[in-house]
Amino acid sequence: MKLKGIGAAEGIAVARLWHMEVVDLSVSHREGCDPERESKRFADAQHTAADELTALYETTRQEDADAAMIFDIHRMMLEDLDFCEGVSGLVAGGCNAEWAVEQTGNMLHDMFQAIDDETMRARAADVKDVAGRVIRILKGIDEGAGLPHEPTIVVAEDLLPSQTVALDKRYVVGCVTKNGSVTSHSAILARSMGIGCIVGLGEAFQYIPKDGIMAIDGATGEVIVDPNEAEISEYAGKRKAFEEQKILLHQYFDKEAVTKGGHHVEVCANIGSVKDAEEAKKAGADGVGLFRSEFLYLESADFPSEEVQFQAYKKVLEIFSPKRVIVRTLDLGSDKQAPYFHIPPEENPAMGYRAIRICLDQPEIFRTQLRALLRASVYGNLHIMFPMITSVTQVMKTKELLASLKAELKAEGVPVSDGIKIGVMIETPAAVVMSDELAKLVDFFSIGTNDLTQYTLAADRMNAKVSNIFNAEDPAIRRMIEITARNAHAAGIWVGICGEAGANTNLTSFFMENRIDELSVAAASILKVRRAVCES
Ligand code: PEP
Ligand code: MG
Repeated sequence: MKLKGIGAAEGIAVARLWHMEVVDLSVSHREGCDPERESKRFADAQHTAADELTALYETTRQEDADAAMIFDIHRMMLEDLDFCEGVSGLVAGGCNAEWAVEQTGNMLHDMFQAIDDETMRARAADVKDVAGRVIRILKGIDEGAGLPHEPTIVVAEDLLPSQTVALDKRYVVGCVTKNGSVTSHSAILARSMGIGCIVGLGEAFQYIPKDGIMAIDGATGEVIVDPNEAEISEYAGKRKAFEEQKILLHQYFDKEAVTKGGHHVEVCANIGSVKDAEEAKKAGADGVGLFRSEFLYLESADFPSEEVQFQAYKKVLEIFSPKRVIVRTLDLGSDKQAPYFHIPPEENPAMGYRAIRICLDQPEIFRTQLRALLRASVYGNLHIMFPMITSVTQVMKTKELLASLKAELKAEGVPVSDGIKIGVMIETPAAVVMSDELAKLVDFFSIGTNDLTQYTLAADRMNAKVSNIFNAEDPAIRRMIEITARNAHAAGIWVGICGEAGANTNLTSFFMENRIDELSVAAASILKVRRAVCES
């Protein structure tokens, strides 16, 4: 059976499908339970958890010995005296084991969090992880509910960015969702992984069975459920053609992106992790035009510490040095939610408490990130960029905070580069309108066409029903880009595009007419974009 969705990331796959269910770890509090029974349930769950962790340790160790260590630490935590005694004490009082584990986990988490030592604080997230594992087992949810260890097309109603980052990428060859749109963050992640992704299947989603084989074409949005022999071989042919295209494009790997008229463009990569940076480098990126730093937060069970962030920024800078790396500061909120931020549900999250608004409202969170960035600055060519800017005041406040942290670090004797460049994302109509003023305060602009399109055309980027209105080629968006580029160049600063439109080759000649200086796209699109620039 053929179904049609919206092609969100190019890639052809024929593989087994797997429905991703959201694992519910919430627990209820029961009193008057039999302590002996609950105690045994806890001990059994502890055993199962230890077995799971041993298996995880063994499989991970073969690929990455350092990464495997975490499972060893978790195994020790599982048997930690404070953890076991905390649970036993509560269970002895007659409560259910799940609740006892949750309470003890929370208590230990808060305790670690309060310690004035980076390494110990980092353990807080691990305690939560361990408690969560035991709760899942107590609730009878099998880890087998996880991704199969074979090439798999992930199927979900919605694929949250936090769920996408948690998937074991070795086995995911495609994804299909009922909701979502081309610029939803899971589609963006799929593009960065170089796998096919189809979103917005809508009503057709109900025809996807629980199990079986599926064929997908991420360019056209076609999904074939239970393909027959002829369809499988048609897809094998398509896949071959797709791979051949990739080989042809390889001639653009070392080529400079210069238009026929001589305008030079940097073709950079959008990344969300150190791993992405490695892939982007291999894909021939001229630098990093957008490091979505919030993915470090989404991957983590708690606030990533200054040290954890510093290590990630340092590695990415080193990978690309001396080329430019633009790290965008935390852009959490809206569809990107980390539970430990405790952002209450909002009527209109895309226009709510997110990005720079959270950072300026909770400077302690911002401080940690900015200090990590400043410390990392000596390892490469760091550019820092602020998201969701709507006013000049926000930029001034942010620059003040950055300057005071720089002075603080220097006073501590920590080296900080004097060459850091500062930029803002132009992704709100307010920022476009104020771009002449903003340009006086920063070194560069990067146009976020995803949010700029959603806010300008009042069309939710996540809503498949308005995907016909959400269109970065719309004349209104073209005008927004023209105004921004004109104001940037008049002030003598450069301007890039880091939204998904950067990879839309229908727009390349329009970008070139406006002397756009940089296009930052998913690693898989770099060569295609470089070719389009050279042909303009
Ligand atoms: C954008 O809005 O275009 C952008 C690049 O940021 P994000 O997609 O992460 O919101
Ligand atoms: Mg944005």
